[in-house]
Amino acid sequence: MKRPYNFSAGPATMPEAVLQQAAAEMLDWHGSGMGVMEMSHRGKEFISIYEQAEADLRELLAVPANFKILFMQGGALAENAIIPLNLARGGAADFVVTGSWGQKSYKEAGKFCNARLAASTQASGFTTLPEPSSWQLDADSAYVHICSNETIHGVEFHQLPDLKALGCDAPLVVDFSSHVASRPVDWSRVGLAFGGAQKNLGPAGLTLVVVREDLLGHAVPHCPSAFDYKLVAEAGSMYNTPPTYAIYMAGLVFQWLKAQGGVAAIEAANIAKAQLFYDYLDGSALYENRVAKDCRSRMNIPFFLRDESRNDAFLAGAKAAGLLQLKGHKSVGGMRASLYNAMPIEGVQALVAYMQEFERKA
Ligand SMILES: *Cc1c(COP(=O)(O)O)cnc(C)c1O
Repeated sequence: MKRPYNFSAGPATMPEAVLQQAAAEMLDWHGSGMGVMEMSHRGKEFISIYEQAEADLRELLAVPANFKILFMQGGALAENAIIPLNLARGGAADFVVTGSWGQKSYKEAGKFCNARLAASTQASGFTTLPEPSSWQLDADSAYVHICSNETIHGVEFHQLPDLKALGCDAPLVVDFSSHVASRPVDWSRVGLAFGGAQKNLGPAGLTLVVVREDLLGHAVPHCPSAFDYKLVAEAGSMYNTPPTYAIYMAGLVFQWLKAQGGVAAIEAANIAKAQLFYDYLDGSALYENRVAKDCRSRMNIPFFLRDESRNDAFLAGAKAAGLLQLKGHKSVGGMRASLYNAMPIEGVQALVAYMQEFERKA
């Protein structure tokens, strides 16, 4: 049986080989007599799963030794509160708002620190990125926040900003939820990067935080202990019970990524997939993408039918053709195709073939 192609923005498609392996190991992991869900997080079996997952992720993302990898809970949205509690020391932070997720971070952080708007592309309908030299950065900011891939608006930073070159010494905080592991990360520009796992790493429930060591230990006294990065780091992400099954699944995804040739190879595949799709959209009379060409996301591609009265027919036909979850986010409308690591190029080819056929019948 051929599975449909799933273009969901998240929770999102998983590599089929990973699902097969998890199914095979569901009742008995490696002869232990236990499924992974049933194991103590402090037992040697789970510790080996955990250590392998962390080591594989460190290798895949080339995370330097002076950064801690934390496997937490609460999702990316909880981090919008947890980060100011840990980094802002009751002071101020600067926010670059380039879409819905950056906007949410800015609003939420305002409950916990003096959140300042350094730049916003709302006036362009979040279809552009602001030139870093135009950002209003404050000398006393504890950090500068960006969302490096806006999942809903389909805008991606293809290079992280170099804050030092802008005369800013504050650490850069990056929400990389929806393109983590799709491309390399320039850690020399990053203080902290975080993301929910359910876009590109595994199931919902696991939140990844990669944080430079010198940023640990500055949490305000009322920061919940389970969200104090220093306590979590000292406990090897086992201050309390971590999301064990989600970590196991993410670990299988990391091994799958390594088998694909690692992040450089997956990036090349992602470039090819995105180019195929954008080239088709740009050449089409029926469909359009409205994001400026220099900041289009490789992962999340919103598009519109110029004749919106055909939206329902488009989605029904797609579903019948085995192409699932293409409806755009309600705040933007239209359609959205998410082309995460686990989406094979055959899925994009099938989508383009369907869209060509739909356009031809118009
Ligand atoms: C999905 C997403 C979030 C929200 O993640 P949760 O795990 O639901 O909290 C935040 N930021 C970005 C960029 C996302 O794609």
